[in-house]
Amino acid sequence: MIPGYDEWKTTPPDDPDPVTYCNICGCPIYEGDALFTIDGGICEDCLNDYYKELA
Ligand SMILES: [Zn+2]
Repeated sequence: MIPGYDEWKTTPPDDPDPVTYCNICGCPIYEGDALFTIDGGICEDCLNDYYKELA
C-alpha cells in the first residue's frame, strides 16, 4: 500500500489543475510553469509580448 495512492490515481496525469491563470491572456498556468508577478500574475508569453523589447 502506498499512502495517498488513491488520491493521485483519480487525477488524470495529462489534465492537472492550473495553479492560476494569466491576468492578460487568461491561459492556465500550471505548477512549475513560469509565472511573472506583475500585472497580477502573467505568463511568459505575455511577459515577452508586453515587457520585452529588443535594444
Ligand atoms: Zn498570458
